[in-house]
Amino acid sequence: MNTILIKGAAILGGAPADILVKDGVIAEIGDLGAASAGLTVDADGLIALPGLVDLHTHLREPGREDAETVETGTQAAARGGYTAVHAMANTSPVADTAGVVEQVWRLGQEYGHCDVQPVGAVTSGLEGRHLAELGAMADSAARVRVFSDDGKCVSDALLMRRALEYVKAFDGVVAQHAQESRLTEGAQLNEGEVSGRLGLTGWPAVAEEAIIARDCLLAAHVGSRLHVCHVSTAGSVEIIRWAKSKGWDVTAEVTPHHLLLTDSRAERSPIGPYNPIYKVNPPLRTDEDVRVLREALADGTIDCVATDHAPHPVEDKETEWSAAAMGMIGLETALSVVQEAMVETGLLDWAAVADRMSARPARIGRLPGHGLPLEAGALANITLYDPSFRALVDPSAMASRSRNTPYEGMELPGRVVATFLRGRPTVLEGKLV
Ligand SMILES: [Zn+2]
Repeated sequence: MNTILIKGAAILGGAPADILVKDGVIAEIGDLGAASAGLTVDADGLIALPGLVDLHTHLREPGREDAETVETGTQAAARGGYTAVHAMANTSPVADTAGVVEQVWRLGQEYGHCDVQPVGAVTSGLEGRHLAELGAMADSAARVRVFSDDGKCVSDALLMRRALEYVKAFDGVVAQHAQESRLTEGAQLNEGEVSGRLGLTGWPAVAEEAIIARDCLLAAHVGSRLHVCHVSTAGSVEIIRWAKSKGWDVTAEVTPHHLLLTDSRAERSPIGPYNPIYKVNPPLRTDEDVRVLREALADGTIDCVATDHAPHPVEDKETEWSAAAMGMIGLETALSVVQEAMVETGLLDWAAVADRMSARPARIGRLPGHGLPLEAGALANITLYDPSFRALVDPSAMASRSRNTPYEGMELPGRVVATFLRGRPTVLEGKLV
């Protein structure tokens, strides 16, 4: 029998207890003395969390294996404490058919260091003209439940309405990248004082908020589920709070970077001004937006943290600001950033972190076997985390194939010491197994 004994872990930050795992399932939790096991892990000082679940990961395979692959992306995920990621559809070819989502799903089965749940495109080729094969993707081996044209917005209101209606048949959800593209033509940085001083074309908050308001109304009108990707503005939070107060089935995510960084980074940062490492879609916003996003995650208006892990090769990022690709990697630093922004500030305790980074994203994605409480009988998806560790972020030590982390040169707290996927260690002593 395959047994693992985790000794003295603070479950959700509470009192230390031992966790006995047998054949991939949590068999017992409590004071288990000197019970014998095939592998014993000393978890003194470590917090045990349910394995993290990401609703928003760009694994780049197929098509951009120079940026990331299913293997390297899931290695980064495991290092970050994740046991499941949702792989976004903007690959090449686009994941808009049963064939492509099954290909990604199989790559996950074969090479994944965590579970890979493919996201299906809403429209064919992400072109925003015709609905993709939503039903066929839902019925495929990949059993897709989350549909998104992420990277692009489903701009056409009638198509968005049809997608929302369609996914009801299989309890799916449309995850919208909210961006009114006419308002962001040529946009480079949050529209505000910093973009004005730097002479970069501004990206107004209203470009995000107008789409979110429209989509909340559409979701309510057809009685469907809407998920809002990477909320970045205080105004968006207000709209989502309003939609939830109406009882509409609207959920939302925030990225770690929007919880910690602001547009001022484009002007002043440890690695100098105009560094496109900080160029991201939606853009970094203001201190006030960060304050409101943190409060919204704390009070549950924003349901979860999602990384929007967006790897890019060096040549696409190390160029002038206006030519650089948008996006940042985030899987390996997400929990540290959440500790810094939310736990150290007293806004979330560890039980709430587990809720926002595991339980709720699993529920929104309708992902079975993940996001469950750590208790006897549950699948052993477990993350062991050392919150007392502090270190400078070192991009060269990361597992991702890309290096575009915005935290280079920053000191962040915490370190994932071990990750278990159904009882199988994917990370031990901070290293990939
Ligand atoms: Zn997006």
